[in-house]
Amino acid sequence: MHTWILNQPGQFTVVQPAHPHNPAPGEALVKVHRMGLCGTDYHAYRGEQPYFAYPRLLGHELGVEVLAIGQGVSEVRVGDRCAVRPYLACGQCDACLRGYPNACEQIKVLGVHTDGGLQLFLTLPASQLHRSGKLSFDDLALVEPLSIGAHAVNRAKIKAEDRVLILGAGPIGLAVATFAGFHQPQQLVVADVQAQRLRLLSQLSFPQTPQPLPLAQHPLEEILSSFGGKNPTVIFDATGHPQSMEQCFSYAAHGGTIVYVGLCRQTLSFSDPLFHQKELSLLASRNSQPADFDQIIHLMENGHLHTKAWITHRYPLSQLPQAFETIFSSAGDICLKAMIATDA
Ligand SMILES: [Zn+2]
Ligand SMILES: [Zn+2]
Repeated sequence: MHTWILNQPGQFTVVQPAHPHNPAPGEALVKVHRMGLCGTDYHAYRGEQPYFAYPRLLGHELGVEVLAIGQGVSEVRVGDRCAVRPYLACGQCDACLRGYPNACEQIKVLGVHTDGGLQLFLTLPASQLHRSGKLSFDDLALVEPLSIGAHAVNRAKIKAEDRVLILGAGPIGLAVATFAGFHQPQQLVVADVQAQRLRLLSQLSFPQTPQPLPLAQHPLEEILSSFGGKNPTVIFDATGHPQSMEQCFSYAAHGGTIVYVGLCRQTLSFSDPLFHQKELSLLASRNSQPADFDQIIHLMENGHLHTKAWITHRYPLSQLPQAFETIFSSAGDICLKAMIATDA
């Protein structure tokens, strides 16, 4: 079996994956069946991912099968299908000890800081696995990208009286829209400067259908008018664009909350008088927590979370380079999630 290694920006080459080591106590050996692609992979492919070293085997959105377990493993059994929490935390730093493995000081993300799902077989701590007796490998590979949205929403603590604005209708923004809907806020709006992306809102199934808002020349006015003249009380920025992130301060209602889900490389600035006058809460959201994974699997298993329309593109492993060339080019259909069958 062969796989693809990203040798340098824009260049995949075929390699034979190394043999995975047998699981040590606490570890599991898994076979990767599905791997979702996302912006992180594309930035690495384009050479735009900071702290990224080549060559690298990509893959952090994974649906896997357990082949063997080490001593003392109780989380999973051989044959289990699992989602993988790809954020390898040290377990010993201050953040880990305080319950923030998603923000571990030494975090290593599979497929980013260390080789990921394209190893095809990998040995990892069993505590990174979240099993399901019901879900398909497709669904399990969607758990990680969905968990980014779930975590951001859990950070925001949305109430029924909230007016929620989500900036950016990419996979992360739509995941946020999904989980925000479970809180049944007074109003839920998804805005994007690319109006065609908002068509996805009518193709997916949400617990509360979000209103689409195409942003054009005067975003603040357009936002206010979509909220009946009021400011949104909870804003999620899922664009990662510095300008959009800074504008959140003027969009937000007094007493409002801003959550940055998307990240950017620049230094942002804001007006402190505005921040104080409005008594805003500004939150970052990074990766996700083990509980976010469990919550999503539970919702999927119980039929409360419908993910069928999420996978817009499919490729066998042999066509991985073509997948990168097509789905991320602006031509063609809008890509929400491309899924690679690593077992095909
Ligand atoms: Zn991803
Ligand atoms: Zn740590």
